[in-house]
Amino acid sequence: MKLGMGMMRLPILDENDFKSIDYEQVNEMVDAFMDVGFNQFDTAYVYHEGIGEDAFKKSVVERYPRESYKISTKMPLFIISEESQLEPIFEEQLKNCGVDYFDYYMLHNVSGYTETAWKNVDLYSFIQKKKEEGFIKHIGISTHGNAEFLEEILFMHPELEFVLLQINYLDWEDEGIESRKCLEVAKKYEKQVMIMEPYKGGFLADVPEDAEKIMKEHAPDRSVVSWAMRFVANLDACVVWTGASSLEQLESNIDEFNNADPLSEREFEILEEVSEIINSNITVDCTKCRYCVESCPEEIDIAKIFDLYNKHKILGRDDWSQPGNAYLNYSRLPDVGIASDCSECETCIEECPQKINIPEVLKDVAKTFETETYGFSD
Ligand code: SF4
Ligand code: SF4
Repeated sequence: MKLGMGMMRLPILDENDFKSIDYEQVNEMVDAFMDVGFNQFDTAYVYHEGIGEDAFKKSVVERYPRESYKISTKMPLFIISEESQLEPIFEEQLKNCGVDYFDYYMLHNVSGYTETAWKNVDLYSFIQKKKEEGFIKHIGISTHGNAEFLEEILFMHPELEFVLLQINYLDWEDEGIESRKCLEVAKKYEKQVMIMEPYKGGFLADVPEDAEKIMKEHAPDRSVVSWAMRFVANLDACVVWTGASSLEQLESNIDEFNNADPLSEREFEILEEVSEIINSNITVDCTKCRYCVESCPEEIDIAKIFDLYNKHKILGRDDWSQPGNAYLNYSRLPDVGIASDCSECETCIEECPQKINIPEVLKDVAKTFETETYGFSD
C-alpha cells in the first residue's frame, strides 16, 4: 500500500475563507511528500470551493515533471443533471489541473445524494470513452453508500477498476458506513481499493481522554493518531489518502505510515473499546467535507459550526468554553449564517454523506452557543 496526499483540506491563510490557500506551505508539503518517495495526489472539482484542482496544478504540475507524480480527480455528480454537462466539465478539469490525462478518475460520491446524475446520465459510458481516448488511465468511483449499494454498482459496472471507500476503525462496523462490508464487496469483485478518511476528518486524532488513556497505557510511545493509521495501512488496499492541513500533520502522517506495523489481537480489542468511548462522546459525526456548505441558502458554515460544537461537547463543559467563544467570533463575521438562521429547508441533508440531520443538530447548536454566556441576547 502507498500513502497518498489528499488535497481536500489544504492549509488556508484565513480560517473563514477556504479559497485562501497557503501556497507556500502547500508547496513545502508537496516537496516533503515527494522527497520521501510518495507521488500520488488526489483532488476534486469541488474541493476548496472550486479551486482545489487549480491548487494541485500550482503546487505540483507547475513544479514537477508529469511522469514524476500521479493524480486522481473526480466528476462532480452533485451538479450534473444532463449529458451535455460532462464534456465541458471534463475539459475544464484537465485545464484546471494542467494535465493531458488523469491517472485515476472517479465519479464523485455515487450514492443516494447524487441520484439525479447517475440515474439520468450515462456517466459510466462517458468515463469509459475518456479512458479509451487516452485521457484517463484508470476509472473508478468514490462512494459513501453502504455495502449493498456498492455491490449493485460493481455488479452492473465490471468496467470499473477501483473504488474509493471511507475506511477507519470507527466506521469499520458502523451500520451507516459499513467500512468492513464495503471492503469485502470490493474485494469480491476484485477491485482495487483506495481508502479515504483514515482519521475520520480529524476525529481520530483528538479522541476523548478516557480513550486516549487506554491507548497510552498499552503503548505509551505511540501517538493516538498512529493507531488509526496502523488500522488502515495493513488492509488490502492500494493507497490511503490523508487529508493533511499542515506540513506538520503531513510529516506526522508520513511517519505514522512508515511505522505502521500490524495491530495485535489485543490492539484490535483496544480499538473496539476506544470506538465505544468515542461513539458515546461524539455529538455530530461530521467529517468536515463541506459538501453541505455550498448548498445552504442561509450561508451557514455548517462544517465549522459542527466542529466547534463537537469540541465543546468533548470538553464536557456546560459553562463558558473556547469553542463557544470561537462561535461568537464566527457569528460576527459579515455575510455568515449562524445556527438559528437555519430555515429548515433541508437542502443540506441530501448533500451529507454522513447522513446527518443537519437542521435538527443546528437547533442544539443554537441552544448551546447562542446564549447570554457567549454574548447572545434572547
Ligand atoms: S436546512 Fe438549514 S442548514 Fe440546511 S441548507 Fe437549509 S437553511 Fe441551510
Ligand atoms: S455536515 Fe455532512 S456534508 Fe456537511 S461537512 Fe459535515 S459531513 Fe460534510
